[in-house]
Amino acid sequence: MQTTIRTAISFEGIGLHSGKPARLTIRPASANHGVWFKRVDILLGDNMVPARWDAVELSPLCTRIKNRAGVEISTVEHVMAALAGCGVHNALIEIDGPEVPILDGSSAPFVRGILSRGARVLPMPLRVMEVLTPVEVHTAHGWARLSPGQGGLSMDFHIDFDDAAIGVQDKTLNLANGTFVRELCDSRTFCRQADVDTMRANGLALGGNMENAVVVDGDRVLSPGGLRHADEAVRHKMLDALGDLSLAGVPILGHYTGHKAGHSMTNMLLREIFSMPEAFRMIEVDGHTAARLPGAGVVRDEIPAVA
Ligand SMILES: [Zn+2]
Repeated sequence: MQTTIRTAISFEGIGLHSGKPARLTIRPASANHGVWFKRVDILLGDNMVPARWDAVELSPLCTRIKNRAGVEISTVEHVMAALAGCGVHNALIEIDGPEVPILDGSSAPFVRGILSRGARVLPMPLRVMEVLTPVEVHTAHGWARLSPGQGGLSMDFHIDFDDAAIGVQDKTLNLANGTFVRELCDSRTFCRQADVDTMRANGLALGGNMENAVVVDGDRVLSPGGLRHADEAVRHKMLDALGDLSLAGVPILGHYTGHKAGHSMTNMLLREIFSMPEAFRMIEVDGHTAARLPGAGVVRDEIPAVA
């Protein structure tokens, strides 16, 4: 069955790129509502933006959604990953500014908040997208693929950075049984010191600091306290991928492979599969399949203690 959050919960913080403070509140929503953002600071005109693949505006550093009136919200991926990873299918997310607060750079604060409220089961069956044939997108930087899976959602991710502090990292995970909460949710955004100055010069990362991003320089991790996991970077890329895939609007049954992929590539992948009706089918899940979705089997005590 579909779910929503039991009662509302709020988060406050600054936007990673804008540096602006924002307050975000996740509210319950009815079945078949999906996830929508509402810009409560915009009082005139259409302030509702669907958290959906076809509302994504391609942007290199974060996932930004925009409605037809031009109202946008940036950096939606970490709160979207938290909802998907906790099995919340319907929510209204109110926000009083253009960017989701970055908090600690991971999804863990959102996960902790969502799990503190719990999920309410709604009287409507859950529909999911089952991948039937492989779909792939390539760019000059890497590639991403969705292929038929084994009943739930699984992922392979490969990254390769010159900086030795990140280097080559590979990870494979099946996202069943609360894996997202245990293995991925506390991994933070990362960047290279060399890129920080460039981003700032372009008016980006204005809210970034050593507390909400892992900053590396060559073989050194500059952020105090170091890494939360030796392979925190690839874990964060998988977290981002789950958030970006959740913009399909329904959970996906399949296997995702990301090879030096990022937000834009995952969105291009969704655009590709939605343009190929023979590559997927929408089905109502039975109990057996529902138990293998990323939000099933989540245990609140398993949120990593570090976060
Ligand atoms: Zn991210």
